[in-house]
Amino acid sequence: MKLGTKLIHAGVEPDPSTGAIMTPIFQTSTYVQAAPGDHKGYEYARTQNPTRDALQKALAAIENGTHGICFGSGLAATDAVLKLLAPGDEVVASSDLYGGTFRIFTKVFAKYGINFHFTDLSDAEALRPHLNARTKMIWIETPTNPMLNIIDIAAVAAIVKGKNILLAVDNTFASPYLQNPLDLGADIVVHSATKYLGGHSDVVHGAVIVKEETLAQQLYFLQNSCGAVPGPQDCFLVLRGLKTLHVRMQRHCENGETVARFLRQHPKVDKVYWCGFEDHPNHAIARKQMRGFGGMISFTLKDDSMDAALKVLSGTKLFSLAESLGGVESLIGHPASMTHASIPREDRLKNGLTDSLIRLSVGIEDASDLTEDLKKAIG
Ligand SMILES: *Cc1c(COP(=O)(O)O)cnc(C)c1O
Repeated sequence: MKLGTKLIHAGVEPDPSTGAIMTPIFQTSTYVQAAPGDHKGYEYARTQNPTRDALQKALAAIENGTHGICFGSGLAATDAVLKLLAPGDEVVASSDLYGGTFRIFTKVFAKYGINFHFTDLSDAEALRPHLNARTKMIWIETPTNPMLNIIDIAAVAAIVKGKNILLAVDNTFASPYLQNPLDLGADIVVHSATKYLGGHSDVVHGAVIVKEETLAQQLYFLQNSCGAVPGPQDCFLVLRGLKTLHVRMQRHCENGETVARFLRQHPKVDKVYWCGFEDHPNHAIARKQMRGFGGMISFTLKDDSMDAALKVLSGTKLFSLAESLGGVESLIGHPASMTHASIPREDRLKNGLTDSLIRLSVGIEDASDLTEDLKKAIG
């Protein structure tokens, strides 16, 4: 089955008691048993919920995995994946990461004896010097947030193959419409479903998708044991969001390209970061592993002052100044003070994340209105 069909049908059956075509929101904490242990597969709602089940099956299908395990947020999903590790284990992560991911690594899990190494993996070979007998996980984001660097997932997978190292890919930016890391050799896919999967800026949600049974059972165990489960209404909203992912993403990609090309020819704009440009350093890899280039763009102005950036950030009318991304509406953000404020300034600058960098999540409005809005704000 192709993605567009899976997005609408996978995991979803008409409700057996009523025929409701949409999976109901099973807003219940427990389920009645006929006799002790005699139940319908549902005992307690932290452990199982039918709305969550439908979503988990849908997520597994669209990422070409076998199991989807849902959590109350993207970071709760990350938290569960990190709990697969034990003290003394080492993780090698790409240096350009979502700020909250960097924070949970360095401020939460480092305290429990897990050691993190950060390195620029735009050349996958840079991974090798960091590997040793204690390395148990590689964590990458591609495209990266906010610099839109591309990491070759298949090349990283080939380097760690047979070494008993898990490769986890945060696929939030690409979404399964553009890229399926499990097909490229990754073991674990992580999503902040808050973004493109939900797609309407109305829910916070996370998911992990895997294709290996033992790993899936470990993650279900952590989901139930640690309890960071999403509520059924949130699962319903993500399930509804999925049904239009392919239609939305197609427009995000088209609008992303229009906005990126508009910015690039603007005399006041300096650098534009978008992996669809033919001269993006890893464009060939993006072309190989992605089916489009998405709607995330970062840029800097020739006037590198904070003031100039702030003028643009507060000057747009359609692009709303807000954290987050991946919704139908366009957003503008300032990574240094917003999404990436939890990363120390020296670390940010090393990755090119300057104080004047502006990030756009290009929505699915009419593209000409979006470029007009930016034109007025940039002046
Ligand atoms: C937002 C985001 C997260 C965290 O997800 P939450 O749902 O906000 O907890 C993780 N990774 C990336 C790439 C994100 O954009």
